[in-house]
This record gives sequence, structure tokens and C-alpha cells, in this order.
Amino acid sequence: MYDVVIIGAGVVGGLIARALSAFELRICIVEKENDVAMGTTKANSAIVHAGFDAPPGSLKAKLNVRGSELMPQIARELGVKYKRNGSLVLGFCEEDRATIRTLYERGCQNGVKGLRILDQEEVRALEPALSKEVLFALYAPTGAIICPYELTIAAIGNAMDNGTELLRNFEVTDIRESADGFEVCSREQVLQTRNIINAAGVYADRIAAMVGDTSFHIHPRRGEYLLLDREKKLLVQHTIFRTPTKMGKGILVTPTVDGNLLAGPTSVDQEDKEMAATTAGGFAQIQKQAREYVPDIPFGETITSFCGLRAVGSTGDFIIRSPKRGFFHVAGIESPGLSASPAIAEYVVELLKQQGAGLQRKQNYQPYREPDHAFCEASVEEKNEWIRKEPAYGKIVCRCEHITEGEILHAIHTNPGARDLDGVKRRTRAQMGRCQGGFCGPQIVELLARELGISYEQVTKSGKASYINVGKTKGVEA
Ligand SMILES: Cc1cc2nc3c(=O)[nH]c(=O)nc-3n(C[C@H](O)[C@H](O)[C@H](O)COP(=O)(O)OP(=O)(O)OC[C@H]3O[C@@H](n4cnc5c(N)ncnc54)[C@H](O)[C@@H]3O)c2cc1C
Repeated sequence: MYDVVIIGAGVVGGLIARALSAFELRICIVEKENDVAMGTTKANSAIVHAGFDAPPGSLKAKLNVRGSELMPQIARELGVKYKRNGSLVLGFCEEDRATIRTLYERGCQNGVKGLRILDQEEVRALEPALSKEVLFALYAPTGAIICPYELTIAAIGNAMDNGTELLRNFEVTDIRESADGFEVCSREQVLQTRNIINAAGVYADRIAAMVGDTSFHIHPRRGEYLLLDREKKLLVQHTIFRTPTKMGKGILVTPTVDGNLLAGPTSVDQEDKEMAATTAGGFAQIQKQAREYVPDIPFGETITSFCGLRAVGSTGDFIIRSPKRGFFHVAGIESPGLSASPAIAEYVVELLKQQGAGLQRKQNYQPYREPDHAFCEASVEEKNEWIRKEPAYGKIVCRCEHITEGEILHAIHTNPGARDLDGVKRRTRAQMGRCQGGFCGPQIVELLARELGISYEQVTKSGKASYINVGKTKGVEA
């Protein structure tokens, strides 16, 4: 019998698991995919918003500002890259000035620190590469960037190090009430639990319906992106937004914590909860709008594109409540869900306490996680020391990103270990460079097969039936 089953291993489920793993509880995270961070968490703008956007008094506003305060410490504890690069909302005309004033006042009411409206000269001093048409901007020094899947992998890894279990490829298909709580069912397995946390992203309404709650609906809203190659000196340092219009927030341009430039997202409603393909129309829109504020943005350096699905809830705010004893929705977590995630976790712990869950702190809770190794950033002495201890660090596998075999082995064997090619990519950056895995892919297949004790044919790109090799080619067999 579990005390808590968390449905969904995204950033929200992950940070809740980590927060709960500080207490004497038996916890299990169930995830329908082969890895963590496979839903909305793997494809978004990766911004820790300052918190001036959401209406004062809303859960979005409160949890965004609190999340942005908590994030630096969480990132430190988990050894995750985080950079407070600040954000700018650009204004081009008098209509924009009124909107920027509203955002400024909203931010002040929400408790965002350090907000200022900058004039043209101040904006240009901060970001010389911006269009000369920019007249003023809202500056938020607490805006930041983080890698959402790095955060999630680290949070779930840390929760696992503190005793939490993770079941992959466990798709919840039914929930039944029992004398002591609930039965959480997949097609193959049934788990008994006293409490359930529904953190299933775009599927949270379907999970809610399994306990008879049809009070909200989640519809997906697509957002496409273009990711540019890493540069020593990026064209912009801050996260750059345009003043929002009736048509939405528009396209942003931002550095990532790994030193790429990211441009997007588009915004298109759809009913399909899975369709996340990118489109030529989306690319054209991103390029056109981004060039209006960053005219020289080098789209020729684009290395990949991706698309994320926002989990837009029918209530307009985050849906975090308990429809029945022992069951908790954490639904409709669209933007700023990543920013708010540490505060959402804190809030859910309080909800559990209010229901008398009797949370007792663990004596031996360990909040720290060793940062993943970045061999290429180490000094020559450190590199030599690593190679001495583990010769696999002396072998470069990914030539574009300079990732060693040692780092790949570490990714496979550290909680929650990589089980497929994309899992290795998200943990190490191997396959993320210019060649996108063209050269290192086959070597990583070999390493996964060897370390997991499976055949080459069983290695997948991203779980399920995404096999890489269908069989041996003629003449290869001895
Ligand atoms: C285009 C875009 C841009 C964004 N930009 C930002 C930003 O810059 N800053 C910010 O703060 N927020 C941003 N967000 C929002 C942020 O990405 C989300 O709020 C956050 O990732 C939500 O995390 P989650 O864990 O709730 O959902 P998810 O990451 O979707 O996790 C839910 C998990 O549940 C699993 N699941 C679903 N159904 C089942 C089932 N039946 N059984 C088992 N598992 C199941 C899924 O596989 C998935 O892994 C953006 C979102 C999008 C789409």
C-alpha cells in the first residue's frame, strides 16, 4: 500500500514527489512514457517568469512569484543550471505603453521585485542588437532561465534517492475506490494507495473523469520553436518578449542555459492531445516575428525545431484542489507552470496536511543531488583525474558537444537512469549538436544495449515502438 501515487512525471509531478520525499511516506510516481519529462515539460520556453503576467489574486500569480523565489535554491540543491538573465517586454507604440503600464502595476501587486520601465536608450544599452523601432520596455530583473527537463530529471532522481519509486510505461487506465483509498490501474498492474495526485498534464481531465469529476476540461494549445546553435557570445542576453496584443503574447527570443538561442512559441488550439509535429507555417511565423525585434537573428544557424502542448484549463487558472478525500488535482498547469512548480509542490504538501495526512519529516532526508558531470567544462587537471578514476571519460562519443562515454554511462546508471536515445540526449546533450546524432547515435545504441543488457534491436529512440534497428544487414553476421 502506497501513501501517495503521483500520476505524471513532468516537472509538476517531479517537484511534488521531491517535496513529499522529505516525509515518512511510501511514494510512487507512475508515468505512461519510457522516461520522465516527456510531456509538456520537455518542450517549452524554459523561462522562470518574474510573475507580472497573471491577474493579481489568482493561483497563477501567487505560485509564479513564490516559485520564482524558490527556484534558485532548488536549482542549487539539485545541481541544475539556472541563470537570472532578466526579461524585457518591448514596446513599439503608444498602445503598447498602456499595456506595459498595466503589466508593471500588475507585477507590483503580485509582489514582483525590481520592475522598471526603461526608455529607448536604457533598452539599447542593455541589448544593442534589438530593433531601433523599440521605444521602451518593461524590465524584470528576476526573470530567469532553466532547463525544464534537467530540473525534472534531477528532482525525480533526488526523490528516488530519498526512497520514491518510479514506474515507467505505466499508463493509468482506471481508478477504483477501495476501503483504504484507491486502486490505480494500468493494463498490467494495480497499485493500492491512500492518496492520488493527478499531475497528468493535458490528460488531467481524463484522470479526473476516472473518479467521476467532469468539472473541468483541458484542451491542448500547440507552440512551435526553433533552436539555434550554441554561440560563444549570444546576440541577446535577456529574455525578449513583445508587448502582448489581443492576438496573444507573440514570439519570444531567449538564450537557453546551455548557450543556444530559442525563438517561439506559436499558439494554435487543437483537440488532439498527442499531435506535436512542427510545421513550415509555424517556422515562417517565428522567423518573421522574431526579426521584428531582433533583426539579425541568425536563423541559418537553426539546429532543430520542436513543439509543445500547453494544458489549457477551462477555468482560466491553475486547478489545484481536492474533489474528494485523498485525491488531489494539479491540473490546467499551463504557463507559468514551470516557474511555479516549486511553489505548486509546497502548496500540495499543505493540502495533504490539511486532510490530516500526518506528514512526519524524515531524519535522513538528503536535499542535495550531485550535479551531472560536464566533462568539457572541467579543467585539464580535473579531466585527467576523472579519466584516471574511470577511463570511459577519456573517450569522446559526441563530437559536436564533446560528450564522453563516461558521461553517458553516468546518465544510464544515475536515478532516473536513461533507457533510450532521447533519454541519453536530455541528460548529457549527446546528439544535441549540429549533426543531431548522425555520428554518435550508433555508439550510444551500443552503450545502451550493453549497459541495459538488451539487444541492439530492442534499443528505442524514445520508448514504445520507436525502434532504431530492425535487424542485421546482409553479410554482417559472421
Ligand atoms: C509552448 C509552451 C511554452 C511554455 N513556456 C513556459 C515558460 O517559459 N515558463 C513556464 O513557467 N511555463 C511554461 N510553459 C508551461 C510549462 O511547460 C508547464 O506548465 C509544465 O511543463 C507542466 O508540467 P506538468 O508536469 O504539469 O505536465 P507534463 O510535463 O505534461 O507532465 C504530465 C505527465 O503525465 C503523464 N501522463 C499523462 N497521462 C497519464 C496516464 N494516464 N498515466 C500515466 N502518466 C500519464 C504524461 O506522459 C506526462 O509525462 C510552457 C508550455 C508550453 C506548451
